[in-house]
Amino acid sequence: MQAIVLQGYGGPEQFSAARLPEPVPRDGEVLVRLRACGVCYHDVMARQGHFPRTALPGVIGHEMAGEIAAFGPGCSSALPVGTRVAILMKDHCGHCTQCVRARDHLCENGAGLYGEAVPGGYAEYVAVAERVLVRIPDGVSFEQAAVVPCALGTAYHGLQKVAAVQPGEAVLVTGASGGVGIHAVQVARMLGARTIAVTTSAAKRDFLVEHGADDVIVSHDLDFAAEARRLTGGAGVDVVFNIVGQMAWAAVLKGMAVGARHVFVGNLNAAPVSLRPAHAILKEMSFLGTDGVTRAEVQTLL
Ligand SMILES: [Zn+2]
Ligand SMILES: [Zn+2]
Repeated sequence: MQAIVLQGYGGPEQFSAARLPEPVPRDGEVLVRLRACGVCYHDVMARQGHFPRTALPGVIGHEMAGEIAAFGPGCSSALPVGTRVAILMKDHCGHCTQCVRARDHLCENGAGLYGEAVPGGYAEYVAVAERVLVRIPDGVSFEQAAVVPCALGTAYHGLQKVAAVQPGEAVLVTGASGGVGIHAVQVARMLGARTIAVTTSAAKRDFLVEHGADDVIVSHDLDFAAEARRLTGGAGVDVVFNIVGQMAWAAVLKGMAVGARHVFVGNLNAAPVSLRPAHAILKEMSFLGTDGVTRAEVQTLL
């Protein structure tokens, strides 16, 4: 099969086209003929060497959709050959404490993202566990389905489940013009929230408004607290969906309302943040994290 292989950490020149043997599905695995694979900012960071689990040389990519091509031994074959499927970002065991609690995205025995230690989607075929396949309904394209688990699922799980956004709340999204960000803006609006999108690029303003942002803050230096307060009549925002992480921390902390929830989604520079406990105590603020999406949520979203 044809594949794009990451040969080493560095720039885009580290990718090269190659012919690799077609994967052979092992026990409980399915061979999927891939029809679409998203290119995620996580992939850029993997290429740059931020995730040491990334196999070299290796095939990255965790936003996959395709058609079932063949079954390995021990599969239920509940979905027949040819079924159009989206693929969860990572495998889960189905029997650990987290899986039993329907939090399979936090599986204690998971193998990590596809495209890290195990091959991913920059190829014509991939072998994955049968339990990570979710049927794509008619009317949903491969390209749309491929980004549901990562870009849409991360936004949905983080806002609907972790932050429990309520209608009428003000939700601020940092890194709003990226893959997860643009979906977070749409999900927050779907949940009935008033959305404030923060971007460093003035060119993205119209794009964000078209996708449902009520207000857009263009901030090159990420010093947007005063503007977030002004847009909320001085109260501050109820929920922060922080995709940028530490670089936006000082501003989001100053822009949060009493009783607000802050959700860490990404941390682009991997730096730590500091927090005075009294700040959280006296304003009864919650600081949360989110990572991925459950299988059931992906089914709902598709
Ligand atoms: Zn992704
Ligand atoms: Zn598990």
